[in-house]
Amino acid sequence: MTSPSTFNMRQGTVRQPASFAGIGLHTGRHTQVTVMPAPAGQGIRFRRTDKGGKGAELQADWRHCVDFPRCTMMQAPGGAKFQTIEHLMAALFALEIDNATVLMDGQEVPIMDGSAAPLVEAIAAAGRAEQDAPRQFRKIERALTVTDNRISLSVEPADRFIIDYTLELPYWGTQHWAGEVTPESFRRDICYARTYGILSVIWPALILGKLRLIPLVRGASLGNALLMYKDRVLNKGGLKSPDEFLRHRIIDLVGDLALGGGPLIGKVTAFCSNHKHNRALLRAIEAEKTAELRAS
Ligand SMILES: [Zn+2]
Repeated sequence: MTSPSTFNMRQGTVRQPASFAGIGLHTGRHTQVTVMPAPAGQGIRFRRTDKGGKGAELQADWRHCVDFPRCTMMQAPGGAKFQTIEHLMAALFALEIDNATVLMDGQEVPIMDGSAAPLVEAIAAAGRAEQDAPRQFRKIERALTVTDNRISLSVEPADRFIIDYTLELPYWGTQHWAGEVTPESFRRDICYARTYGILSVIWPALILGKLRLIPLVRGASLGNALLMYKDRVLNKGGLKSPDEFLRHRIIDLVGDLALGGGPLIGKVTAFCSNHKHNRALLRAIEAEKTAELRAS
């Protein structure tokens, strides 16, 4: 089996442009994003349309990523950035959009409510147009692991896309989710989960109403991020599910893995991995493929 029947077998793009707008979690700046149709074989491309972005254009690819805390960011050779792209990449995965040009009039993809659900809705409303080309699935042929102290992330061959994620959080203990990730299960079980922050550092600033002074989370608010203080969340209405933090990590993982190309077919086992480890795994998969090509 080269690909599971739970995926469309033909490539797809958006039927019409899909737009959404809002502020970025990290920059606090307002940005409009428009996902445009693109030809088969193009993949996902990001383009800056604002003056400051100097028309920069980049293929969605982990090789263009630069290290930045708590989000996934690509940087063009001229310096223009595409920040917090992971939830959008996950939403494109969920709607099986292989080809699109993503126009941004600012640096950071809006955080919306902190989850991938509003992005999924916007793109779903535009619809999917099937294209006359087979999808390129990435089948994992060999087991690989990246570790970083206690953190680990590994892949192994499987005939489906399976994620097994374990998250440990102070005050909250261990949370675990395992299952097959299909476009449908992602939309139903995962995409609603909101991003979160632990308030041991930013709590005093929140009380003082000075959250905007913190450079890493200038746009954060109780409307777009779960804010944890010890064993509580401060958001009205609380959690959407007891393991919402964990499910959000799965959004990030799915979005980051999408920076390696078409849908991945294999089992991914994660223990507390974050964006840095997700990219390290993609690098390891690439190195394995290169080594195999050399050997053959
Ligand atoms: Zn996230």
